[in-house]
Amino acid sequence: MKKLFVANWKMQKTFDASRAFACTYLENFKLLGQSEHRQIVLCPSFPALSNLNQSFKETNIKVGAQTVSRHNKGAYTGQVSAQSLAEAGCAYCIIGHSETRKYQHESNIDIEHKCKELLKHNVTPIICVGESRKNFEQQQTFEILEEQLALVLQAIADHNHDIEHFVIAYEPLWAIGTGVVPEYTYLEQIFTWLYKECTKHTQTSFSLIYGGSVDATNAQDILNIAHINGLLIGGASLDFDSFSAIINTDY
Ligand code: PEP
Repeated sequence: MKKLFVANWKMQKTFDASRAFACTYLENFKLLGQSEHRQIVLCPSFPALSNLNQSFKETNIKVGAQTVSRHNKGAYTGQVSAQSLAEAGCAYCIIGHSETRKYQHESNIDIEHKCKELLKHNVTPIICVGESRKNFEQQQTFEILEEQLALVLQAIADHNHDIEHFVIAYEPLWAIGTGVVPEYTYLEQIFTWLYKECTKHTQTSFSLIYGGSVDATNAQDILNIAHINGLLIGGASLDFDSFSAIINTDY
């Protein structure tokens, strides 16, 4: 299975900065994307989606959104539908990121609806899950993950069209943007559990990826952990050299 490298640019790059980045590194990205062992996905903010998709049209680089509306269409000022994302060329969309859960009060039910919308429009969902530091300290991780996954896995299992793939990104909140990465033995346990949980509930193919303070010094070790098929990268994806160093690690 291809390793997946997802760059989450959050609100760090403006429209102009996203375009300039794509333009400056287009040839480098073409080369990076050539390997059949990997899939690279860039997730800029909404205004840059269409433009980036145009820039990367002739390459193997895919473009993804950072969130989507749970609704199909209607009077939802400020929201963007899954159909619009698909029309703008998005192949992927992140849902359930801890920052949208926190700042946009995204619930597990919202995430279930968003997932269904994405599946309807053939946009691969990247579903983020992860526990807080408090949950971690109180050893409630599996309980939290089970709760975060239940509805969404059911939605995938119930989806009556052929969907090719879905992605689960495990991102412990205490590792996002902190420079702290969980013990590898802990990640082994989590990903073995995630793998079993996903195979138990659906027949659809999936990738499990890790996110939280990934950089070129830890990427290789993380990618060598069983069942980890890729990385969701925030801070280190903003700079081409650090992002490509992660992608070019030996795994
Ligand atoms: C993220 O926010 O999804 C993330 C993984 O961020 P960082 O790599 O900066 O920890």
